[in-house]
Amino acid sequence: MIQVDVLVGLQWGDEGKGKIAHFLGVHYDWMARFQGGCNAGHTVIHQGKKFIFHHLPAAAVLPQVKVFLGPGMVLYPPVFVQESQAIDKTIHLSGALQVILPTHLLIDVLLEQARGKGAIGTTKKGIGPAYADKALRQGIPLKTLLENPKAIQNTFLWKYHQQWLRLWESEPPSLDDFWQSVETMRQWLKEGKLKLWSPQAWIEYCYRTQERLLAEGAQGTLLDLHFGTYPYVTSTHTVSGSVYTGLGVPPNVIKEVFGVFKAYMTRVGQGPFPTELQEPLASRLREWGKEYGATTGRPRRCGWLDLNALQYACKINGVTQLIMTKADVLAKLPQVQVFYQDQFHSFPSWNAQLIDDTHFETFCEFIEKQLQQPIVYVSYGPETQQIYQRTTINVS
Ligand code: GDP
Repeated sequence: MIQVDVLVGLQWGDEGKGKIAHFLGVHYDWMARFQGGCNAGHTVIHQGKKFIFHHLPAAAVLPQVKVFLGPGMVLYPPVFVQESQAIDKTIHLSGALQVILPTHLLIDVLLEQARGKGAIGTTKKGIGPAYADKALRQGIPLKTLLENPKAIQNTFLWKYHQQWLRLWESEPPSLDDFWQSVETMRQWLKEGKLKLWSPQAWIEYCYRTQERLLAEGAQGTLLDLHFGTYPYVTSTHTVSGSVYTGLGVPPNVIKEVFGVFKAYMTRVGQGPFPTELQEPLASRLREWGKEYGATTGRPRRCGWLDLNALQYACKINGVTQLIMTKADVLAKLPQVQVFYQDQFHSFPSWNAQLIDDTHFETFCEFIEKQLQQPIVYVSYGPETQQIYQRTTINVS
């Protein structure tokens, strides 16, 4: 049976999962995504080269790692084709994952506009509308699109979208890029650069092999459709439980759950943020931490670490190992704060190099005590090698 570990974000996304997945990826045969689509934005620096992935998991750049996009995802062909050109390997896709059409993007934009002040702050990538159509049982699986693309125009969904847009007196979107990318995907399929899996073939494969797979979450726990700050959430399940349905593996294959969190908090878009910082500190953290969305470029709201939220996220995900990122950013301040129960706790800051720094150890131990989980790795810079192991628990 295949063995699965999971890596999830414990905050509102952008925890630096990309770098961590890339770092851990050397231990795995497979790297998979199980939810979301191109609303994710992983920034990976591999051998000095910068990659930004939207559909692909971060360790896709590692030569030995096979990539699988599970049926819980949605895929937008123009973006997928563009990012896939950066890597030279076969990409494995579930034929059951759903396609985002150009009309989904437009509907997303129109809905956000119509919500006015109540806008959710979506990435406007068509993700929510595509999942809504899937739930309405009128979505288009990837397999259907690739087998007979032109037939899409005769589907109920296509006609429904045209009606919908007419109602909103909106110009239909341009389809050139979309059809071109679908043709590229069909060509890649013929050339073996893409492999489509049926759910049955995938589960048979999983039962047959002893391979190791890392399931990489996108967004973060507090954006989960059930467990996040609804309605200011994403349209998928971002927690570890989502791996079973989003990938097609049974629960008993999961071993480690890596929970990634930043030493402070950030949030893009609307929604509650109890520890949000005021100016000018918020802007300073944003600049030091380069807190701008990889997908949208939007500035992220910044705040102190909220241990109440982190504790909840650890429980929901069943985290077994914690990984802290961006500890170097807080090193620029003389004092840092952590919110726990109903008060802020102050800590003296540390040196940017962290290792053996007693102030930093005090900060980590306080977090570990409340969360009852070890902080196994600490990342202290964007480069791959700027990470160290604090405790002896290892993944290999
Ligand atoms: P993800 O969506 O969770 O993968 O996060 P992003 O990739 O959007 O954001 C992570 C950004 O922070 C990238 O530009 C990383 O290179 C950078 N990064 C990751 N870890 C660290 C860290 O420990 N310190 C600093 N300064 N930057 C980091």
